[in-house]
Amino acid sequence: MSPKIIFVTGGVLSSLGKGISAASLGALLEARGYKVRLRKFEPYLNVDPGTMSPFQHGEVYVTEDGGETDLDLGHYERFTSLNTRRCDAVSTGQIYSKVIAKERHGDYLGATIQVIPHITNEIKEHITHNIEDDIDFLICEIGGTVGDIEGLPFLEAIRQYANDVGRGNVLFMHLTLVPFIKTAQELKTKPSQHSVKELQSMGIQPDILLCRTEVPLPLDARQKLALFCNIKPECVIEASDVDSIYRVPLAYFKEGLDTQVCKHFGLDTKTAPDLSLWEEAVQRATTPKGEVSVAVVGKYTGLQDAYKSIAESFQHAGIANELKVNVTWLNAEDLTDDKTTADILKGFQGILVPGGHGERGTDGKMRAIRYARENNVPFFGICLGMQLAVIEFARHILGLREAHSTEFEETAHPVVGLMKSWNQDGKEVRRSRKGDLGGTMRLGGYECVLTEDSLAHRVYGTDHIVERHRHRYEMDSRYRDRFEAAGLQITGTSPDGALPEIIEIKDHPWFLAMQFHPEFKSKPMAPHPAFVAFVKAAHSL
Ligand code: GLN
Repeated sequence: MSPKIIFVTGGVLSSLGKGISAASLGALLEARGYKVRLRKFEPYLNVDPGTMSPFQHGEVYVTEDGGETDLDLGHYERFTSLNTRRCDAVSTGQIYSKVIAKERHGDYLGATIQVIPHITNEIKEHITHNIEDDIDFLICEIGGTVGDIEGLPFLEAIRQYANDVGRGNVLFMHLTLVPFIKTAQELKTKPSQHSVKELQSMGIQPDILLCRTEVPLPLDARQKLALFCNIKPECVIEASDVDSIYRVPLAYFKEGLDTQVCKHFGLDTKTAPDLSLWEEAVQRATTPKGEVSVAVVGKYTGLQDAYKSIAESFQHAGIANELKVNVTWLNAEDLTDDKTTADILKGFQGILVPGGHGERGTDGKMRAIRYARENNVPFFGICLGMQLAVIEFARHILGLREAHSTEFEETAHPVVGLMKSWNQDGKEVRRSRKGDLGGTMRLGGYECVLTEDSLAHRVYGTDHIVERHRHRYEMDSRYRDRFEAAGLQITGTSPDGALPEIIEIKDHPWFLAMQFHPEFKSKPMAPHPAFVAFVKAAHSL
């Protein structure tokens, strides 16, 4: 059976939380027992966000199968049981690349290639491409805002798609803003009306209007929106601001969103979804028994979305520990010397240095690591955070003053260097290349084996883990003996033992750093054990 398709569009302005809305609807449908998949269509021309600046686009979310994707896929995974895949993120760049490749190959038999039908057909093929037969609902989020030039082919494609598969098999949900004008003390429906008109002019009639608002949406505003937008009043749904994003599914349920979706498709609405796990998570998130304060010393701290999954992982760890985790995002460039570093970091109960690329801020991050190491403050390093912990230790404990990563400098002591591997004849082969951008890193889920009797093993409670990677450089294992003799142990490696994956410091109360990104696998109901343990250590040590 082919799945029911829900297209989610956004109007009026960006940043209304379309990804969270789509994901929350996914959560509700899963709670009703349905099998759901979510997919994102991005109108930008980049092939994927792998080469885009986190300052502009937020974090690059890495899927288990190694896709460098949009951060909304992170919301999909956090709100549902999904493991997203590379194919769940489709961009204009990918669509055009495919169409141009087909044209060069002669597949179009000499036809003139046009947006309609060639680009739109390619988009339509991607809607259900690689979707398993047993999926009940496929939720497709269309990025951007209605009215953007880049979005037009996608809107045209979804209009056509609804006709192709029958209007009864498709639902259009439009997320919009109903602003509250303080001076007039009034909610304004006009921007939403205009945005729906724009959609209608392209042949799309939304079935559900999801209205972001700061204040409750009164009946007359709903009726007005219903009348002007040609939507049933019960399908004008309030989406007001909530205290925790994990309350969104519960709030939508109260507003009847999933009921209206099921009604639209003629499905049973009598049995209520089981939302007990969500209720429990929100209860724990909003009534913490204590607080803990941690610092993240990073580079992209100006835009919180740049570390979205880390921020969420802290929320999950807070839920698990029944603690409010206060995260302070510090710009590593402000840690200009050891005294300033100590002044800034004093009072934080834990320090995390996240992943990153490029040299800017690395000195400050190393100062933060040294501070945590020398002052017994719980430390958690992720990817570049681990590499810098290795360099810091080599410089200050092993006395290798020139120790560095070859990402930043050719040095006599490249304790971090390009990933290497050896072929069957014992010849060294590169695992990664320098200079290429886009898709040349070690990406996605790889197995890692943990050493018994280590902090890593205690944290994970198992010998084998699979974690998601996104890096070109690695700790050079030729220095392993020297590090271990001085107290820095490698307690996780690739199964062949070649790649150091986790390090820890023996005589420190909690110092753990990993080459991969645990934050991509944390969910509110399945918090990542490393974040849970770090928050616990920060609170109790
Ligand atoms: N820049 C480093 C590398 O490529 C670290 C990457 C990261 O932190 N994601 O290995």
